Amino acid sequence: MPFLALPTAPRCQVTYIWISSCGMYPKAKTRTLDSEPQSVDDVPRWNALYSVSDECLETTLVPVRMFRDPFTLDPNKLVLCHALELDGNPAPGQRRSECVEAMEAVKEQKPWFGFEQEFVLMALDGRLFGWSADTIPKTEVSSRVGLNKVWGRDVSLSHYKACLYAGVIISGTAGEGIPTQWEFQIGPCGGVELGDHVWTARYILFRVCEDFGVVPSFHPKPIKHQPWASGGHMNFSTEDMRSPGGLTHIHAAIERLAGRHGEHMAVYGGNNELRLNGVGLYSAFTNFSWGTASRHGSVRVPGHVHSEGRGYLEDRRPSSDCDPYLVCKALVETCLLPLAA
Ligand code: ADP
Ligand code: MN
Ligand code: MN
Ligand code: MN
Ligand code: MN
Repeated sequence: MPFLALPTAPRCQVTYIWISSCGMYPKAKTRTLDSEPQSVDDVPRWNALYSVSDECLETTLVPVRMFRDPFTLDPNKLVLCHALELDGNPAPGQRRSECVEAMEAVKEQKPWFGFEQEFVLMALDGRLFGWSADTIPKTEVSSRVGLNKVWGRDVSLSHYKACLYAGVIISGTAGEGIPTQWEFQIGPCGGVELGDHVWTARYILFRVCEDFGVVPSFHPKPIKHQPWASGGHMNFSTEDMRSPGGLTHIHAAIERLAGRHGEHMAVYGGNNELRLNGVGLYSAFTNFSWGTASRHGSVRVPGHVHSEGRGYLEDRRPSSDCDPYLVCKALVETCLLPLAA
C-alpha cells in the first residue's frame, strides 16, 4: 500500500502504548505532534479511558520510554506510558512504579534480567493457527526446522526485525515445543527497562500478527488437554554473580528463593498451576526445586554458568502472561534485600 510511505514532515505520528486495567494486554492510540520528539521528555501527557468492572475511569498517560515506530517508520514513534488515576496513584493493572522502587533499593548490586517470552499463534476462531490440537506432530521439543514442524516463522522473524528497528533490546528467538509456539528473548538489562521492553515487544507482536491474520496467545496453557504450555523464564544476575566466584552468590540466592516459593508463585502469572504440573519440563506449582543444567526444576543454573563459575540463574516458574515488572521486583526483594531479623 502506497499510503504508508507518504511524506508528512515536519509532523509526526506518536502511538501511545499502555497496559490494560486487567494488567494483561497492551492498548494503544495515536496522535499527531508538530515535530519529531527528540526524547520521551518531549512527548506530552495524554489521557485514556479505563473500564474497570462496569465503571469508566479517566486516566493520565505519562510517557516513560520512547521507541522508533517499525510500522510507520521514522520519524514516527511508539511511546510506552504509565497510566495514573487523577489523584496521581497508578491506575489498575499498572505495576511499573513498584518495580522502580524495588530497583532503586538494590541499585548498588547492579541486577540484570533477561526474559524468555513464549507464545502460540492462534487463528481468529480461537484454535491453533495451522494445526488442530489433535494432529500436532510429535517431534523434537524445540528449535524445529522444516515445514512439517514449524508454522509462522515469518511472523517470528518479522517481529524480531521490527523490535530491532524500534530499539527493543531483543536478544534472540526460537521455535518452541509445538509448530505454532515461538519464543523471543529480551535483555539482559535492568529491571524497569526489562519490563518496558517486554511490554513494548508484546505490543509489537500483536501488531505484526494483525498483518499476518493471526493472534498471539500468552495463555500459559492455551490448549487444556495438551501436555505443552507457555512460560516466561526470567534470567537474573547481580554484579557479584557475574564476577569471579559468582557461583557462591548464585547458590545463596537460590537458597533464599527456596524459602519464599509461595510468595513468588502469587505474582508469577495467572493460571500457572495449569502449566506447572510437575511433569517433564514443568516443575511442581506447590514446591521449590532446582538443578544444575537441568530443566526440570523451578530454578536452573545453566551448564555454562556452572562451568565458568559465574553468570546468572534462570527462574523457570513465571508464566508466559506474567507481568515482568512484578517478577523482577519479587526476585530482588527475595534475593537482594537484607533479611528481616
Ligand atoms: P534458554 O537456554 O533457557 O532457552 P535463552 O537463550 O532463551 O535461554 O535466554 C537466555 C536469556 O538470559 C536471554 O534473555 C539473555 O538476555 C539473558 N541473559 C544472559 N546473560 C544474563 C545475565 N548475566 N543476567 C541476566 N540475564 C542474562
Ligand atoms: Mn473518543
Ligand atoms: Mn529459551
Ligand atoms: Mn523456551
Ligand atoms: Mn529458558
